[in-house]
Amino acid sequence: MPPAAKLEVREAPIPAPEAVPCKLEPPSPKTDARAAATACPACGDSCVRTLFSGSDRLYNTTDKIFYVVECVRCRLIRLDPQPSPEELRHFYPEKYWFEPEPGSVSQITEAYRRFVIRDHVNFALNALRQVGPLNGRQPVLLDVGCGGGLFTHFVQRAGFPVLGLDFSIDAARVAWRANQVPAFVGTLTQAPLARGSCGVVTMFHVLEHLYDPAAYLESAYELLHPEGRLIIQVPNAACLQFLLLGEHWSGLDVPRHLWDFRPDDLEVLLDRCGFESVRAKHFNLRDNPAGMATSIAPGLDPMSRLIRGVKESPAQRLAKNLTYFGLTVACLPFTLLEAACRAGSSIMMEARKKPR
Ligand SMILES: [Zn+2]
Repeated sequence: MPPAAKLEVREAPIPAPEAVPCKLEPPSPKTDARAAATACPACGDSCVRTLFSGSDRLYNTTDKIFYVVECVRCRLIRLDPQPSPEELRHFYPEKYWFEPEPGSVSQITEAYRRFVIRDHVNFALNALRQVGPLNGRQPVLLDVGCGGGLFTHFVQRAGFPVLGLDFSIDAARVAWRANQVPAFVGTLTQAPLARGSCGVVTMFHVLEHLYDPAAYLESAYELLHPEGRLIIQVPNAACLQFLLLGEHWSGLDVPRHLWDFRPDDLEVLLDRCGFESVRAKHFNLRDNPAGMATSIAPGLDPMSRLIRGVKESPAQRLAKNLTYFGLTVACLPFTLLEAACRAGSSIMMEARKKPR
């Protein structure tokens, strides 16, 4: 790892928006609005309208009903009320965070996983090459929420030093043992790394799970070299799939996704945390077509079947896997089309530190 670079010192913590009480005084165009359990973290308004109510349709971890609401002022979509940390823990199946170990799945599945991760790898390699050598050494990539380390494995193989961070000790163990990726367990806000020591920080499908996404972005800001780049990826709540499928869109992932970001929401969040976006990608082979297949037929999703412990014979398993794969392929043209309209079901953004 390169020595700590010259630090950019942040002047003051980012102020939270002042809370705005929800006034539901008729006559008002906000007739379907109600007061949320908490004020919107982006604008401070506590008035929301309910978009949907629903439960965990993918993994069946609970029967509890949750509300997906939209802030009437800034339109940020969120879960309301948010579950407590203790409650939320029960909504994550044991294997949610990490990938299967090589050898524990069929060779075809393993080859597919390695093939479809390429979009993520190429996006990150592009950023690393933009950053270039820092203090005479290749820039370090830190992957937050690294899972079993397959993504970082490929980045490492391209000649860049990598580090993984995950909540799950099982994930970190797989990352190290199966993919030779040095990984540590913990939160980014308490990462044992020097300021300015990272060239690129990646967070794929992380921010939507956090109570305080801004805290992670601020930590990334501190860990990044002044020339460093941040890469984030989240489901895109401004996608055509959400418009067409509504509450059946798998990107909502109730109750695990606490936020459903649109690109504009991300821009605001990045700006507040000292970043500006430089590039966005609306399509990746791993998430978009398979995500649509899961929206249409959640019961066929292989991970969902595994986690729910669905009893099936080898022939049934093969038939379901082939049907799901066929559906994924069938979804490919639509997901490419919506991405071409800059309304793909996931959005990957690269951002740099704003000049001062
Ligand atoms: Zn708001």
